[in-house]
Amino acid sequence: MTHGPLAPGSTIGILGGGQLGRMLATAGAALGFDAHVYEPEPDCPASRVAARSYCAPWDDIGAVEAFARRCDAITYEFENVPVETVEAAARVSVLRPGSKSLELTQDRLIEKTFINGAGVDTVPFAQVDDIDSLEAAIESIGLPAVLKTRRFGYDGKGQAWIRESGDARKAWVAIGEQPAILEGAAAFTRELSVVAARSVDGQVKAFPLAENVHGDGILKQTKAPAAGIDAATQGRALEIATAIGNGLDHVGVFAVELFDLGEAGLVVNEIAPRVHNTGHWTMDACGCGQFEQHMRAVAGWPLGDPAPHSACVMTNLIGEDALAWEDLAADPAARLHLYGKREVRSGRKMGHVNRLSTL
Ligand code: AMP
Repeated sequence: MTHGPLAPGSTIGILGGGQLGRMLATAGAALGFDAHVYEPEPDCPASRVAARSYCAPWDDIGAVEAFARRCDAITYEFENVPVETVEAAARVSVLRPGSKSLELTQDRLIEKTFINGAGVDTVPFAQVDDIDSLEAAIESIGLPAVLKTRRFGYDGKGQAWIRESGDARKAWVAIGEQPAILEGAAAFTRELSVVAARSVDGQVKAFPLAENVHGDGILKQTKAPAAGIDAATQGRALEIATAIGNGLDHVGVFAVELFDLGEAGLVVNEIAPRVHNTGHWTMDACGCGQFEQHMRAVAGWPLGDPAPHSACVMTNLIGEDALAWEDLAADPAARLHLYGKREVRSGRKMGHVNRLSTL
């Protein structure tokens, strides 16, 4: 086990084998690292670019340990890896980011409480455990409001809007009567995100704020740098990222999704303790993109320069969008990234396209 910077030729393990793991493995290879991937699903996108891959369930601690023993450092690309799994890996190898980043972000109630404790605003929220506490939360927060499961929500899943008090029971049933939080509606003018990295020695570097457009709960497009951001707002985004990165003792890249409330400033929606879809633009438009940046941090290397050399519009290829690959491949303005998923399914992220322009 080593705690100095990892030499090229070292092995970095990645828990999770989706497109994020694939792009991390590829960026790591460019720095001379081998990637080993651990993923419960067979034939995952990252396994086909990894030096070695392991297909076993998250709770197979023996398999996790066998994987970890061959790795000089281990990271994760998926925020719902069980904490017990990453703790098993951490007993055998170096885990970056640590388990704290998962523990504080897997549960929306714990996450928002942590964010407020770090001096950063969120929308108002309240804990909901049953229909009575939901009624009380509606009383204190007001309507409209959104009921969200505390755990395992992503891409808008596990959420139900409540517009009138008569909708409360329906929303509670819709989310599966699980531990939840009720959030006040943010009157945002747009959704932004800041993707940042924190090094082993605690340095934080952020990419410029990006503007994100969602449809059906899924990210469709990111425009970066976001238009009309003044220095004070960009500075506030760095302060927010620094407070969160330090509070998590995070090592590696993380993303903070924000609501832009205009005059009222920025509030945090959620944190992703990993590389993020809203940072995909950086791989073509910045000196050091998010995937290289993450591998640098995990390896204990100095962070690269996140400054953009171009503006970028990133468009996700969702489901059948990816069938247009021949046209996209023929478009000299399109930088095409495909994830190697065997099957096109509706709502599935199949790839993305970055289109650059002059800053
Ligand atoms: P989430 O899974 O929490 O990121 O929510 C998915 C999307 O729902 C966000 O990107 C927003 O567009 C919307 N949303 C979530 N929470 C709120 C909120 N409290 N107020 C307004 N819109 C929200």
